[in-house]
Amino acid sequence: MGTIYDVVVVGLGVMGEATLWRLAEKNLRVLGIDARVQGHCEGSSHGASRIFRRAYWEGEKYTSMLNHADQRWRSLQALSATPLIYETGGIFIGPKGSGMVAGSIDTARRASVEHTEWSARQVKSSFPVFSVDSSCHAVYEPGAYAIAAQCARSKMILAATRQGAELLYGDAVVCVRRHRKGFRLYTRRGLCVTTNSVVLTTGPWLPNWVPELKAHLLPRRVPVYWFEPRKEMASKFENINFPVFLYELASGGLLYGLPSISQNEPGVKIGFHNRQQASCRLGAKSEEVSPLLVKEISESVGAILPDLEMMPAKAKVCIYTMSQDESFYIGRVQGYENMFAASACSGHGFKFAPAIGDVIASLVAGETTPVAIDAFSIDRICSN
Ligand SMILES: Cc1cc2nc3c(=O)[nH]c(=O)nc-3n(C[C@H](O)[C@H](O)[C@H](O)COP(=O)(O)OP(=O)(O)OC[C@H]3O[C@@H](n4cnc5c(N)ncnc54)[C@H](O)[C@@H]3O)c2cc1C
Repeated sequence: MGTIYDVVVVGLGVMGEATLWRLAEKNLRVLGIDARVQGHCEGSSHGASRIFRRAYWEGEKYTSMLNHADQRWRSLQALSATPLIYETGGIFIGPKGSGMVAGSIDTARRASVEHTEWSARQVKSSFPVFSVDSSCHAVYEPGAYAIAAQCARSKMILAATRQGAELLYGDAVVCVRRHRKGFRLYTRRGLCVTTNSVVLTTGPWLPNWVPELKAHLLPRRVPVYWFEPRKEMASKFENINFPVFLYELASGGLLYGLPSISQNEPGVKIGFHNRQQASCRLGAKSEEVSPLLVKEISESVGAILPDLEMMPAKAKVCIYTMSQDESFYIGRVQGYENMFAASACSGHGFKFAPAIGDVIASLVAGETTPVAIDAFSIDRICSN
């Protein structure tokens, strides 16, 4: 009955989109399905910008994937007339003893990532916009950048459809059944789709499909804020002057931030990476950010970037899908020959998307993956 697809990708956040793009480039017959409308705000991938950095405090195990992703972002940029990459450089600041700064230095040195290690004084002379205590030090990575996230996602979908990929939005997959050597997928609106392979990139909804992950993936709501520059300070925060940053506070709070790269999102985007997370009910209407959380971020931002307005102009809630080791699950789903999954969040997966798309496309095609994924294998928890 109807078309038999080579692959159906379920979930079109950035991971699904990147996978669809890479599968379509292999001339496979592919369909992407998402339960919601294109560009919706209920998952983790929406918004104008994301950070790309390689002096990765999270560890050297990410380096090959980061290098591969960087190549892929640049090949996507080559297909695009509009900028997808803003070469801002990145600065990672913290008190002496900061695990984030030490980790960034360690990875940068081991992986030969171009960087400089700065004292507080050097930070002040290069980026006086940051207020830095003399007990702080920093790493500057000139090759870090901001990705125009929404534009890049649109470009991947365009590249995929130009290669023949088909799309279905606004219809959820509700059931996947084995059928001959492949699968039949059933959707909420009553469609039945036959395919040889399935890729699950459903973000925080992944445990619905891979129950082994239920105990290991926890969706968390997390606010993100936009701060406008104070009067006559705007030029300091333009993306040609202001880098993407991480700033670990003496209290242990880890802030990330990046300059505006889109008229749709004016102001410096800032959030806590490791604070202000709360349990969330998937699919619930986006809630307001509480005044207490706004107060906490305002005080922190006031302390490190005094030329920004005290209060955020805007606040939004987004989802981090936290894994226990804050890393990713990528690979074949246990017990199925032709079913694959990628969960890459814990709040830092976007930058990896085109590499993960390549990896999954290679697995589906039965090819060697372009980078090793042992460290991210799903089996590491399923066998525990
Ligand atoms: C505020 C914030 C800031 C971040 N900043 C950075 C950053 O600077 N750098 C970085 O690298 N990463 C960053 N991240 C992390 C990054 O954005 C995520 O890792 C990434 O977006 C995860 O994408 P995903 O495709 O796995 O999930 P999602 O974007 O959640 O996509 C999952 C999709 O699956 C669909 N779906 C679910 N169930 C079904 C079903 N049954 N049928 C069909 N479709 C279904 C959903 O509708 C959704 O579209 C940030 C995250 C947040 C929230």
